[in-house]
Amino acid sequence: MYVKYLQCYSCGKKFSRAHLSYHCSCGGSFEIIYDYAHLKEHITWKELRSRAFNHWRYREFYPFLPTDEVVTLQEGGTPLVQSSLEKNVWFKCEALNPTGSFKDRGTTIEISQAKAQNAEHIICASTGNMGASVAAYSARANIPCTIVMPRIHAPEKIAQMKHYGAKIKIVSGDYAKAEQYAYDLYQRKGAYLVGDYAYRGEGEKSVGFEILDQMQNVDFIISPVGNGTLISGIWKAIVEFKKVGLVKKIPKLIGVQASGCNTVVKAWKEKTKIKQVIPKTIASAIACGNPLDGAKAVDALQQSRGMGAIVTDKEILAARKRMSSQGIDAESSGAVAYAGYLKLKPRGKCVVLQTGHGLKDVSRY
Ligand SMILES: *Cc1c(COP(=O)(O)O)cnc(C)c1O
Repeated sequence: MYVKYLQCYSCGKKFSRAHLSYHCSCGGSFEIIYDYAHLKEHITWKELRSRAFNHWRYREFYPFLPTDEVVTLQEGGTPLVQSSLEKNVWFKCEALNPTGSFKDRGTTIEISQAKAQNAEHIICASTGNMGASVAAYSARANIPCTIVMPRIHAPEKIAQMKHYGAKIKIVSGDYAKAEQYAYDLYQRKGAYLVGDYAYRGEGEKSVGFEILDQMQNVDFIISPVGNGTLISGIWKAIVEFKKVGLVKKIPKLIGVQASGCNTVVKAWKEKTKIKQVIPKTIASAIACGNPLDGAKAVDALQQSRGMGAIVTDKEILAARKRMSSQGIDAESSGAVAYAGYLKLKPRGKCVVLQTGHGLKDVSRY
């Protein structure tokens, strides 16, 4: 195992155990720090590429995993499909994951942990995709689960959760309210809480690992930002591959948000702290008014010398249409990165994330 310690991203305090709590007493989120010198000695491209191309190819970069406990549905290993309209764009097709979004990469880590710790019940707040993913992996691990949803329009995702046998609790208010409800339930009943916490971020790093593995000299990686867990996971992946000597050139990250929920991009632009908003956008998977990993996401934009972009719902729908016209259908939130690309038109090789499948959101196009 290559994990050295856990560190609070806000106050810098170090912890030795993984599952102390979900955030530091100061309110900051945790980050997992590995022994990079040790990793550097053991990890080479030759070794990595001798393994199957999927999420688990990069297993040394994940936390505390007894290999026989892994709960997997063979997530990851998604293709880069070149755009037929813009020659410098490749779509990273995350819709091809087991439940139709990249969330499966974080979920395999979280549910593996839950199983290793003999969890009896799993709880998760979600705007839809995380819940569908957690429901599938909980079913696979044979652990009952409850998904807490805000009152939003997501019938396809709720249907997915039901198919996998999850219990669904709908609370009034936005995602931040659902999150609070899930956290309270965890504190009162002691269920195993999953969500945008350290383990999930560690799992979502594999989007970044795979892009670096699949393509050389990428100039930009363009990602939607909801809670900021995905983009900060991608950034951590890039930094870690650089630390262990696997890559030299670092892509710039572009984070894209909807104009009705622009917490991270606003803080990046104005160099201020993140201010909570009440989200208002059709892109429900990124409607997170109080982004848990917002500070990390702002840093990812800054440290990669990237940038933020804000797109309107109209631009998101137009991007979705333009993607479908190339044979790749994304749910609205899954077309946000492409809308950002179309707005900024950065020059250079661009990897644009298609984060969720069009079948998850069939009424808007
Ligand atoms: C979760 C999700 C996002 C946003 O990811 P964050 O980690 O919350 O920033 C974007 N698109 C889709 C389809 C998602 O499910």
